[in-house]
Amino acid sequence: MDKAVDKKLLSVVVPAYNEEAVLEIFHTRMSALFDALPNYRCEMIFVNDGSRDRTQDIIERLCDTDPRVAGVNLSRNFGKEIAMTAGFDHARGDAVVIIDADLQDPPELIMDMVREWENGYDVVYAKRTQRDGETWLKKATASAFYKLMKKTSRVSIPQDTGDFRLMSRRSVDALLQLREQHRFMKGLFAWVGFKTKAIEYRRDPRAAGETKFNYWKLWNFALEGITSFTIAPLKIATYLGLFIAAFSFAEICYIVGKKLIYGDVVRGYPSMMVTILFLGGVQLLFIGVLGEYLGRIFNETKGRPLYFAQDVLPSRISNTQCTQEQQ
Ligand code: UDP
Ligand code: MG
Repeated sequence: MDKAVDKKLLSVVVPAYNEEAVLEIFHTRMSALFDALPNYRCEMIFVNDGSRDRTQDIIERLCDTDPRVAGVNLSRNFGKEIAMTAGFDHARGDAVVIIDADLQDPPELIMDMVREWENGYDVVYAKRTQRDGETWLKKATASAFYKLMKKTSRVSIPQDTGDFRLMSRRSVDALLQLREQHRFMKGLFAWVGFKTKAIEYRRDPRAAGETKFNYWKLWNFALEGITSFTIAPLKIATYLGLFIAAFSFAEICYIVGKKLIYGDVVRGYPSMMVTILFLGGVQLLFIGVLGEYLGRIFNETKGRPLYFAQDVLPSRISNTQCTQEQQ
């Protein structure tokens, strides 16, 4: 029997959207790491998320020259959350690592993750102690978002944690059963649970290229997180409604009482306008909140597949893996 068959397979999933500037540097650094893990069979799976630059060409070239490289080419840009899911779908590893292509997550940390996995942890995630190269506004909004999620949601999503993590086969299999369209992955990771361990690291600035996330995207990302994991905004509507109704009842008693005692005095235009505008605003706001949830229900009910892949290039370490599967 081939010796390689005994070795565990480590799949590293790398979503890439317009990453031509960093892919080669990334590949070099990841290959060095693979060499430092001789007791494992390793593969890196690049998921091209509909890039408009040379990303796919580079992935194909890497696949040709390096048997440890695999490529999944999505039919268009689906966003990072779905690109990651496509990677997980195609990863056959005993453990699967998810990492950004821009080297903001240092690949060397995977060594520590693997060690913790061997110690029996199912999920080993990297927690950032410092975020270099990010504006204070991004840091502040990120922090506010995690606080809000912690207060309102039942799954606890660890703060200052990206997607960079290692997951055992059974936790990946669990994750893959969650096929919802609105995929807030950080929440889904937390939702599946399992034995979890955090390791700390410093987040580096991007090695090259530009961030794909502007504030509008981040805002939508936060909305996705909130609507996927908490119905707190709907509850706020209920309690605010109750409060306003109680207050209005007192106001009604007061106005009717005043009319009965003092007769029909037509005054109070300012208070009437204030009431109309206030209630109108609150109602519109909460119709909007309802709409956010309703829209998501609409998207989920269509039950569309999450993505389409136009090409899949498997890694060529799989011959040993076949033997393993046949056993
Ligand atoms: N990414 C992707 N699809 C997208 C946007 C981003 O696959 O639509 C990938 C991107 O190539 C990178 C990772 O997601 O590997 C993180 O993106 P980025 O570095 O732009 O995000 P940031 O680190 O600024 O949060
Ligand atoms: Mg980045």
